[in-house]
Parts: sequence; C-alpha cells; structure tokens
Amino acid sequence: MSTKSLPVDEATMLSLAAAYPTPFHLYDEQAIRANARAFMQAFAWVPGFKNYFAVKACPNPSILKIMKEEGFGSDCSSLPELVLSQQAGIVGEDIMFTSNDTPDEEFAAAYEMGAVVNLDDITHIDSLVRSAKMPELISFRYNPGPDRTGNAIIGNPVEAKYGVTTEQLVPCYLKAKKLGAKRFALHTMVASNELDGSYIVETARMLFAQAIRLKEEAGIRLEFVNMGGGIGIPYRPDQKAMDIAWVSSEIKKLYDQMIVPAGLDPLRIVFECGRMVTGPYGYLVTHVRHVTSKYKNYVGLDASMANLMRPALYGAYHHLTVVGKSPSDSDGVYDVTGSLCENNDKFAIDRKLPEMVPGDVVVIHDAGAHGHAMGFNYNAKLRSAEYLLQSDGSVRMIRRAETMDDLFATLDF
Ligand SMILES: *Cc1c(COP(=O)(O)O)cnc(C)c1O
Repeated sequence: MSTKSLPVDEATMLSLAAAYPTPFHLYDEQAIRANARAFMQAFAWVPGFKNYFAVKACPNPSILKIMKEEGFGSDCSSLPELVLSQQAGIVGEDIMFTSNDTPDEEFAAAYEMGAVVNLDDITHIDSLVRSAKMPELISFRYNPGPDRTGNAIIGNPVEAKYGVTTEQLVPCYLKAKKLGAKRFALHTMVASNELDGSYIVETARMLFAQAIRLKEEAGIRLEFVNMGGGIGIPYRPDQKAMDIAWVSSEIKKLYDQMIVPAGLDPLRIVFECGRMVTGPYGYLVTHVRHVTSKYKNYVGLDASMANLMRPALYGAYHHLTVVGKSPSDSDGVYDVTGSLCENNDKFAIDRKLPEMVPGDVVVIHDAGAHGHAMGFNYNAKLRSAEYLLQSDGSVRMIRRAETMDDLFATLDF
C-alpha cells in the first residue's frame, strides 16, 4: 500500500488553490530531497554512485538545481536539455547524453560540453567523429534483443528502436578504441515504470555479464555500467514502491559474485532515473468547473490532458483527492474530464469520488514526472505554471503560466 497524502494540510492546500490561478503544478522540495538522499544512501557501497536525473521527466532549472545539490547528474536527450542542465550548473561528465536518431549538431554540442556521449547505434560512431571527434570516454546503449523480455511499457527489446545488438557490442568498443577512446561505459534501458525490484536486479546481472564478456573478448575494461531509468512509482494506492535498499543489496551480491572474481572491481554503477525521483512529489492542483449528468456523471476540471497527458496516453491511473471531502457512502461515480475537444481527455473513468460541486479543489497525485513536461498546446490550451513548495514551507513560482502572446509568438499575423 502507498498512502496518497497532500504535501500540506487541507486548509493550506485550499488557500494555495485560492491564491494562485489553477491549474498549476506544485512540487514538494523537502520530499524530493529526502527521496534523492535515500537513493544515494541505498547505493553508498558503490564508489562514485550517481543518478543522472532524466531531464525530460521534469525539465525545470529549479528542480535541476536541487538535483545538483543532492549530488545527482543529468541525463539529456536533446540540445535544449543539455542547455538546461548547464544553466542549472550540471556540467561535463555529470551530464549523460543518451539520445537516439541524434542530429550531428547535438553530438557536436555534447562533445563540446564534455558530456558523456552514450551512443545508440554502431553507425553513430561515424556520426560522432564526423560532427566532433571521438571523446576519451565513450558509452554504448545495449539492446539485449531476444535475450531479455522487456516490461509492459517499454515492450519487447526485439521491437525496440534503441541500442546496439549483442553481436554489435564488441565491434562497437573496438572501433571506438581504434578511433581514440580510452575510457568505456555500457548502458541499457529495458524497463519503464517497473515496480518489480527483481527486474532491476536482473538488469544488473545482464550488464555485469556483458562487462565480463567485453573484458574477455575485447580487452575492454568498463569504467561504469549505466542501468538507465525506469524504476516505477506506485500510482495506485494498492501498489507498493520498489524497495531500493533490497535492490541495492541484491546487486551487491551479484557484484561480489561476478565483478570481483573477474578482476573488474571497482566498477561504478549509475542510473538515469527520473520518474522515481520527482514523480510522487508533484501535484496538479485544479478546480472543479462543472458537474454534469448525461448518460454518465461528469466532473469537468480546469485542467486538461494538455497539463497531464498520462491518463489519456497510457490509460494511466492517477489518484485524485477532493480537498476537504472524505470518502463516504454517498460517493458518486464520475468521469473526471478536461475541456479538450477529445473524448479521451479524462483524468479518471468510473471513479468513485465524494460528491463534488463547482469550485471544489481536486488534486491530481503523482504528476511530478512526465507531467507538465508532456504538456502541449492542442486546442490552443496554455500550459500552466509550476510552483515549488520550498523546504521552509514557502511557495515560489518556478515557471510562469503561458500567455496568449507566448502561444502566438511563433506566428506571423
Ligand atoms: C525516459 C528515459 C529515462 C528516465 O526514465 P524514468 O522512467 O523517468 O526513470 C532514462 N533514460 C533514458 C534513455 C530514457 O529514455
């Protein structure tokens, strides 16, 4: 079980919803910091452990600065994400550049910034050399194909566009070495929103086995293995958060069984998690606009899938709290919608919720990762503001809401 609580008491939440125009995203700094520290602590046995926070999960410089202060790096997939990282003070090898279908100019920029370049394909060696040059440190993304079953969201590795195959792996490193690389790393990402810790442990086993193989077959000694992101969060109250301390202790056992006897100790282990770092500590705060009865009962919020796309895109569950109203026997069954002209613009379908009236405050939980970031402007919806609930209890705007001028800025009238 995971409890779905608010970051402040109900009266404070109501006053925040009255003080700031809704909808808005609210992030709980203290909880994010505590969570980041627990992650670092769980892997304290790994020398040089680092999580490179996936910028795409929450691309806001104020959040990235918190990541930096907690000792995290950043994981970037595009030039704007590289720039955001740098602006937040995350530089050099604290940036992991894990991209795919990458334009030459982004390879060049990542090289210039001294980021760790993590290549998605064997042909990208030539692209990198053409656009910049072979860096001293190079990483490759591994796709195990039929050797590994993927999880539900990311799918079967054989069908995935990402990474180099088992067969291509040794040739990749040998080619990079010939072109001047001196330090090597191996990456994979075979899970998304995974809650089963043993899946993560098996990923470590897979990477350790490839580390040993690279040593034996190619004389390549890896500096680190990158487990990627993909650790899930319990979106549903009946789900349980992954036990990271258990995962770490199981990985340590594998390290002692595989890496140490192979003479590969020390081998750094790193992650690129986004969702599990900020996801549970972000809230989308909304007001009820209309309550209607057609063939079903509808609650229309002032937020829409333009503010949080996951329910519409993946059918994802997000828990809802009607602030100040507790569940009771008189609860109704509602579809909770936004205002887009799209019938899948629903935050919940057939959800049992307290009876609502226009003006009620509804908080949508677990919106702290892949939430605001996935926002868009369809139906000419304006993207909302983001606020940080700071560790001292005060609230600071960290991104203003879009205006019509922002929306029209790229147009020629
Ligand atoms: C999306 C992504 C991540 C982060 O995934 P989370 O589910 O947020 O942990 C990390 N690495 C890569 C390559 C990704 O595409």
